[in-house]
Amino acid sequence: MPISADAPLLDVNGLASGYGKLRVLHGVDLTVRSGEIVALLGPNGAGKTTLLRAVSGLLPCDAGSVQFGGRALGNTGARETARAGIAHVIEGHRIFTQQTVADNLLLAAYDLPRGERASRIEEALSWFPEIAAKRHDRGSSLSGGQQQMLAVAQGLVRRPRLLMLDEPSAGLSPVLVDRVLGVVTRLRDTGTAVLLVEQLIEKAVAVADRVYALAQGLVVLEAPASTPDLAHQLERAYFGHREGGRTPAVLAPPT
Ligand code: ATP
Repeated sequence: MPISADAPLLDVNGLASGYGKLRVLHGVDLTVRSGEIVALLGPNGAGKTTLLRAVSGLLPCDAGSVQFGGRALGNTGARETARAGIAHVIEGHRIFTQQTVADNLLLAAYDLPRGERASRIEEALSWFPEIAAKRHDRGSSLSGGQQQMLAVAQGLVRRPRLLMLDEPSAGLSPVLVDRVLGVVTRLRDTGTAVLLVEQLIEKAVAVADRVYALAQGLVVLEAPASTPDLAHQLERAYFGHREGGRTPAVLAPPT
């Protein structure tokens, strides 16, 4: 469905979600626009992964709403979410290690029209020459960094409108982290939006347009990535939250 130019691509409102009786997200508001890179930061256990899971339909939306491209997605399930144009690359570069690189991509392309699959696989591989050269090798023969690239390529096969990456840097050397984040910035030029969960705050901020910080299932800071002294503001947001219990979202655009 077409949306107006200034409407967010992803619009999360008052989202509550968790695991059975364990409520983790307590009313999260977050937006991502087309072609925007948004970093989602926060301490361990803040609920970042849970938020990605709820957006991608892997967890129920207990309250609030998830709109994507002007369409309500909450509780429609992971398959519908993927069809709508969201690709979720989960943490830990989970690939099929006994399958070849090409077959891993073919599996990701399973519900695309048969005639388009080969070209989509080539397109996804074109982002990562390192693994394109290994297309007939098994996933198990790839390095950790190459497995992460394959996991991202699996998401790209579907030409998503929103790519959600959960800690793509985990276990990677700094050089490989830069390689993967370099692809993220180039994706922005194609109009693809990216929601990036990262522990490497500096690297995430360096590629992002906007930043959210989550603590104990609530947004405690939303700010442009260019905000002066952002690192200090993030620290204060985490700390203030812990000290004072639940705090409302802190908006800190540059003056
Ligand atoms: P990290 O950076 O450590 O991955 P996070 O911000 O992504 O942290 P989540 O993984 O979303 O945090 O976890 C939020 C809370 O949900 C934590 O208290 C965690 O223990 C709990 N949790 C996560 N996964 C599950 C699960 N499968 N079942 C029950 N509780 C879970």
